[in-house]
Amino acid sequence: MKIQHEYPLQKLAEALIGFLRLAATEKKNHRFLNEIAMETIRKLSLGKDTTISTKELFPKLFPGHHESQASSLLANTWKSFPKFHEEIRSRLIEYAVNECGMDVYPWIEKLDSDGGAGNLVKYRLIAIEIDRAKVKGPNPYRNKIKHDIEYVAVQDFMPTFIGKLLFGQSNEVVGAKKWIMVFTPFLQIIFYVIMIFSLILLLKDESLTSISFYYVAILIGAIWFLVDKVNRFNRFTEDRIIMASDYFMSWDETSILQEIVTVNDEKGNFLHKKVQLTKYVGVCPLCSSQVELAKGEPDFSRRIIGRCKESPREHIFSFDRITKLGSNIGLLKC
Ligand SMILES: [Zn+2]
Repeated sequence: MKIQHEYPLQKLAEALIGFLRLAATEKKNHRFLNEIAMETIRKLSLGKDTTISTKELFPKLFPGHHESQASSLLANTWKSFPKFHEEIRSRLIEYAVNECGMDVYPWIEKLDSDGGAGNLVKYRLIAIEIDRAKVKGPNPYRNKIKHDIEYVAVQDFMPTFIGKLLFGQSNEVVGAKKWIMVFTPFLQIIFYVIMIFSLILLLKDESLTSISFYYVAILIGAIWFLVDKVNRFNRFTEDRIIMASDYFMSWDETSILQEIVTVNDEKGNFLHKKVQLTKYVGVCPLCSSQVELAKGEPDFSRRIIGRCKESPREHIFSFDRITKLGSNIGLLKC
């Protein structure tokens, strides 16, 4: 990791802010980076020293907390930075190279003081050198196909415990494990079919006056779940892409997709298929907010579409999993 000390800080800060805008998450590590970048720009405009102290950073990241907790809370957040760096580095590098034309990428470093009070710890933006030859180029369809929005895959999301168990660190399932993805919905379908038959048998001999509404309600629920499971199963096998099941996503994670991906070797020969969890995001060309993928229903049945976080019913875009491009399908046009 080679650091370039003379790189213009303004450009580094702007690249970092642009990258974080795409992620548009309120997670603490993202906010940490964003605050450092914003504060660097503010200090540059005032001609001040661009290192940022714990004292300056703390109230913005932990509003409402007492200053006495500053060093411990920030130190805890900082502890997770090596892993966080690992998670987002490749995307951040691609963003810096492909979107900002840089040969470095922005990151932050901690400048330890003499070990005294927490307030003496400082952070600053740094430029880490990139080997551009190793960086994946921009979306190859970008200049070939007319589009309104480009989606990028982000991997720093949190699956549930079950999701992690099944998909592992790389968020993908290959080999025999992949069949779990097929058999689990099958077992669920069989479970609901048995439940429905049992309930019908129970209700068969009852008259309208003595009928148990409790059982009827369970029967309606079971039929609804059965139809839902069958639909999901059909969609996944036919469309190859569906919104990921709630079993795999943490409660605050949205718009994660479960897709079947064909893996080819360098010559284009088929190797195997895998199932992977992916999150795609884009920037709304109408209002610059984040666009996330969601179900198209009710207006765009069986489709996954991009919905702007700020105006999810009006700022809407198509999504194509191959080109990662989309067009405006709402009424407002740029
Ligand atoms: Zn928008």
